[in-house]
Amino acid sequence: MKIYLSENITKSAYDRLAEIAEIVTNFDHPEELDAIMVRRVCVTREIIEKATNLKVISMHGIGRDTIDVEAANEYGIPVPNVPNQSMESVAELAVTQMLALSRKIKKANIGICKNRYDSHGASELIGIDVYGKTLGIIGIGRISLRIAEIMKAAFNVNLIGYDPFVSEERAASFGIKKVDTIEELFAKSDYANVSVPLTDSTRNLIGESAFNAANPNLILVNTARGGIVDEDALYDALINGKINAAASDVFLSEPPKGDNLLVSLENFIATPHIGGNTKECLERVGNAAVDNIFDVIYGAK
Ligand code: NAD
Repeated sequence: MKIYLSENITKSAYDRLAEIAEIVTNFDHPEELDAIMVRRVCVTREIIEKATNLKVISMHGIGRDTIDVEAANEYGIPVPNVPNQSMESVAELAVTQMLALSRKIKKANIGICKNRYDSHGASELIGIDVYGKTLGIIGIGRISLRIAEIMKAAFNVNLIGYDPFVSEERAASFGIKKVDTIEELFAKSDYANVSVPLTDSTRNLIGESAFNAANPNLILVNTARGGIVDEDALYDALINGKINAAASDVFLSEPPKGDNLLVSLENFIATPHIGGNTKECLERVGNAAVDNIFDVIYGAK
């Protein structure tokens, strides 16, 4: 048996795969592959068409936007993902970013490196308390709901949310008041979190009109996918004071390089797609992705 896997996964998960198959790290002979496991590597229609023996494409994580799922469906190849195992870790990163931006941690650190401060309490580092503020969530799904839960319990925030696929009643059951537009959410929020999948309907979902309507104190956090927040409009909003600050774990081109204009801003925190990058999360997701391969090859229990 041959399984394609070229990216790093936790040792316990890797060993389980290596026990049952030869691990192949290239697509030179797709016709020989029984299974494919990917984290960010693209699985194109061309690969799928040539992989005549393929039984399963296992996504290590939730977002299947790098896999041609339509082509896989046509060939009857299941594309299981792992939707439940990274919620906690991604939520913790998003909350970390909200707190760090509230207290201008990046600016303070850069300022110290540049010998900018000669006494304590620098006025350019006056931050804001999170307590009692309003958090707007874009996408009322697993990750947003966990962020909302943490922020409510720790900081007693008010919760509003935008998600056309979630009813007012369901949102209200989590203490969230629904709003009808992203513009309204941006106007009413002190913090906004983006947790929606990247699809045709969410590409550039957050752009100029949202930033033009925003509360200038807004702190925006995006751990979802690059391409959902328009990066040019975000840059414009950050340098022109349309919003206060932002953080992103995801970019149009990943990992972002120093030539990405956003990266050098003191009110912007960039991380290179590390939402699920904790020891515990990698154990959970890696082994669940291996389980998904085993389920197809040996039959689900
Ligand atoms: P989820 O499916 O539980 O929730 C997504 C929500 O988005 C759903 O409630 C859905 O109704 C809503 N939605 C869909 N289209 C929308 C639209 N046009 N406008 C508003 N809402 C819309 O997913 P989740 O577990 O919360 O994950 C969200 C995303 O986070 C994933 O799709 C993935 O891309 C990303 N993610 C990133 C990392 C990371 O490492 N940074 C890790 C895991 C997940």
